Amino acid sequence: MRKKVLVLGGNFGGLNAALGVQHEVEGDVEVTVVSAADRFLFNPSLIWLPFGKRRAADITFPLAPTFGMHGVEFVHAAATVIDPRARVVHTTKGVHSYDYLVIATGYRNTFDVLPGFDSVDEAHTITTLEDAVKAGEGWRRFLDDPGPVVIGATQGAGCFGAAYEFLFNTAYQLKKAGLRRRAPLTYVTAEPFLGHFGIGGLPGGEKLLKMFCKKEGIQTVTGVAMEELAPGKLRLADGRDLHYAYAMIVPPFTGQDVVAAVPDLADDKGFVPVHDTYQSLAYPDVYAVGVAAAVQVPWTTAIPVGVPKTGFPTEVQARVAAANIAARIRGEEPVAHKEFGAIPAICVMDAGNNGVMILADRMLPPRKFGVMIPGPQAHAAKLMFEKYFLWKSRHGYVRLP
Ligand SMILES: Cc1cc2nc3c(=O)[nH]c(=O)nc-3n(C[C@H](O)[C@H](O)[C@H](O)COP(=O)(O)OP(=O)(O)OC[C@H]3O[C@@H](n4cnc5c(N)ncnc54)[C@H](O)[C@@H]3O)c2cc1C
Repeated sequence: MRKKVLVLGGNFGGLNAALGVQHEVEGDVEVTVVSAADRFLFNPSLIWLPFGKRRAADITFPLAPTFGMHGVEFVHAAATVIDPRARVVHTTKGVHSYDYLVIATGYRNTFDVLPGFDSVDEAHTITTLEDAVKAGEGWRRFLDDPGPVVIGATQGAGCFGAAYEFLFNTAYQLKKAGLRRRAPLTYVTAEPFLGHFGIGGLPGGEKLLKMFCKKEGIQTVTGVAMEELAPGKLRLADGRDLHYAYAMIVPPFTGQDVVAAVPDLADDKGFVPVHDTYQSLAYPDVYAVGVAAAVQVPWTTAIPVGVPKTGFPTEVQARVAAANIAARIRGEEPVAHKEFGAIPAICVMDAGNNGVMILADRMLPPRKFGVMIPGPQAHAAKLMFEKYFLWKSRHGYVRLP
């Protein structure tokens, strides 16, 4: 009997895990992907969508043909109940049994930390495709009636890179539109200092970010929690009010409810605590990769900050999980180990026509090295990477770097 591998989610983590297992065991396995989205989304390009630099079609592709060409069954459905004892998953399109399960269901925005967010029209986020589309509609209204702009990341947020990228892209767009004076720009963040990024910062990072902000005339407020959002006004926990005509706020992420609901599987945020093999601590036949996997934050800050679970570590985790599932199918013990903190940090922070390359030997300290290299080549690198990554993923070439 061929073993059954069921993968929930078909984006960075799910695509790499499903195709990884399929290739590792050379097809002698039944791999099924169940995903609530029928298209792959290259989330890093969401920062460009509100400015009309990308359309949804430019940064997505349909998943069924990609999985189909590699012999993986694709089901466009949402998982509704995971039962790890019976080894079945109920979905909106039937029940699937499995021998090994990979949870790659990513994140949900949680705006509970910022009362008022859902009831104001001119505050947005860009962390999902739908949100980024709305942020673009808001941006076009803003251009007709500009005013102050606030961009920030709340207490508990981890996706700081997206906040910075959107900040500098906004500065670039305001300059292009001749609105710099009429639209003062403020960055407000839970990070204890500029360039902390949720990874503890890198040498010279704070200085570099300060210099960038000064050059672009951006006011910054660090180490502060947000208290409430009202029309045109963001109240901070220290009593200050920031006025805005347009705001973009990155919230904390949590895991999906379907994962959180499984007894003993997830932590209080709905993320799955895992070994360095990406097996769940509670259920060895269940693996979790990408944003769905829990990461211990190795520090405490006055205002809580999360850890950014970015694309590169997600791919590494998916490969590790795939190698281990393949080993177990062959009757061996898990062979691959790589804890999140030990995965290299490789990221590009885009700034419109400029940017910063971020490279470090480890996602989390202690590190041997970490550098931030600014310059227009970083913008060019992000453009090239976007095209390469979408090409590679669309064709399912998951073994390529
Ligand atoms: C705005 C933004 C910018 C970013 N920029 C960068 C960057 O520059 N560089 C970088 O490395 N990383 C970046 N990231 C992070 C990167 O996008 C994530 O690391 C990556 O998306 C994680 O992949 P994932 O597969 O774990 O989760 P996701 O991408 O969230 O995918 C989860 C998938 O699971 C599906 N799903 C959810 N619930 C269910 C369910 N119940 N049943 C079945 N399927 C379900 C979803 O529809 C989705 O397709 C950025 C993220 C954002 C939001």
